[in-house]
Amino acid sequence: MNLRPISSSPCKPVSVVECGSCNHMHLASFTGDCRDNANRLSPEQLDSHYGGNGWILVDGQD
Ligand SMILES: [Zn+2]
Repeated sequence: MNLRPISSSPCKPVSVVECGSCNHMHLASFTGDCRDNANRLSPEQLDSHYGGNGWILVDGQD
């Protein structure tokens, strides 16, 4: 199966990880603390920040 890039999204989607501690998402590049409210994201927030195709959930590591 061929997966083609989404043409309406020129930028690479930002990677987010699901957090088992706070049950929200964090940017994959985020290395801070769950208590950092600005970096505790819900899918709705990600949609409004990056658009529905602008972020992608990846496997995180603890
Ligand atoms: Zn968290």
